[in-house]
Amino acid sequence: DYTAHYSREATRAPEALDAFWMPFSANRQFKSAPRLMASASGMFYRTVDGREVLDGTGGLWCCNAGHARPRIVQAVQQQIATLDFAPTFQMGHPLPFTLAERLSAIAPGHLNHVFFTNSGSESVDTALKIALAYHRARGEGQRTRLIGREKGYHGVGFGGISVGGLPNNRKFFGSLLPGVDHLRHTLDLQRNAFSRGLPEHGAELADDLERLVLLHDASTIAAVIVEPVAGSAGVVLPPKGYLKRLREICDKHGILLIFDEVITGFGRVGKAFAAQRFDVMPDMITTAKGLTNGCVPMGAVFVSDAIHDAFMHGPGNMIELFHGYTYSGHPLACAAALATLDTYAEEGLFEQAITLEERWADAIHGLRDLPNVIDIRNIGLIGAIELAPRPGAPGTRAYDVFTRCFHEENLLIRVTGDVIALSPPLILTEAHIDRIFRTLAHVIAETA
Ligand code: PLP
Repeated sequence: DYTAHYSREATRAPEALDAFWMPFSANRQFKSAPRLMASASGMFYRTVDGREVLDGTGGLWCCNAGHARPRIVQAVQQQIATLDFAPTFQMGHPLPFTLAERLSAIAPGHLNHVFFTNSGSESVDTALKIALAYHRARGEGQRTRLIGREKGYHGVGFGGISVGGLPNNRKFFGSLLPGVDHLRHTLDLQRNAFSRGLPEHGAELADDLERLVLLHDASTIAAVIVEPVAGSAGVVLPPKGYLKRLREICDKHGILLIFDEVITGFGRVGKAFAAQRFDVMPDMITTAKGLTNGCVPMGAVFVSDAIHDAFMHGPGNMIELFHGYTYSGHPLACAAALATLDTYAEEGLFEQAITLEERWADAIHGLRDLPNVIDIRNIGLIGAIELAPRPGAPGTRAYDVFTRCFHEENLLIRVTGDVIALSPPLILTEAHIDRIFRTLAHVIAETA
């Protein structure tokens, strides 16, 4: 039993944790009091010390169908024994073709072409490169500027951090993309605190794009990339009408609109994609995470017919896009994704976030009068509770709530700064919702 063996290895002594430099983690703090998972099933993790922990975060916004779903497990097991790897550069195997066709069938409108990657970060960099190459293919190679948004998170590639808007992810690394600029973010506690669903105020913030067009000229701008709902910045929702307005301004100036749906894709907001929930059609969608239910790394960029077709000119023996990854369309990832799509369809999981939305909203907004709660935000099965920072010690209050939930209450939540973010598997029941918010209510009340 590999898992038990390696679990014993990792926990034999504190030094056994030294070698793994953990991503986006306070390594020394973690290693002094580790939180290690041994197994998972459905809505629950089991820790190495044998506790059952309710998963309030869908892993990392990725296990939308819950953990270790039998169909997916079986598909991956069978696939590795059948075809472990085949190249997709000038070669192929059937699965990515089938998967792309299945994906284009659930994607909005004209997004009928799919480029496979291994992560959200790679999907973002791929989409940005396609945007630049698309304009060049049409003879508008001077459109090289990329526009992101403050508080945006688009992964950690140099493209993604350049258009991203989280200062810590940028300041240590500089920006390798000189031609970027940023829209203002849409978080506005003064006008919108405790909104239920999309906030009323702020559609006019989309006009920021007109300001940037005036400054740089439309002829230099290739694309705008935004998360329809921003996750990593602590859940920032689009004000009513904002995304439509952004689309209109992009259309007016020939600028491509990219939705980064790495967290909103695959049912999180009650449709396959947020583009469908909000009824706004982007030119590309970047995805990952829920694509394979988190169990094998994979990302996908959904591309419109118009963009794809602009590349399909010239001699037929010419490579149209000099871009790709060894593992684009990896057999295990494709098998996992196909079985994941089957699971989502069989269980109607894309609709769950609508079915449960009112109950979820009632439960989370029930926390509004607790001490230190300064905002609550929700859409689909996403929730955020923002706490007032302790004077001089930002982030510590939410972190204390997080560790108490995990160690004392067997509930996994996620915090960024002083925002508690929730994104449970879409298979959760009303009883799970009640447990999550009952637990949070008393932990928040007892955390000074
Ligand atoms: N884009 C968004 C909107 C994300 O939320 C994330 C990850 O959380 C990424 C991109 C990066 O994905 P990955 O960590 O798979 O590279």
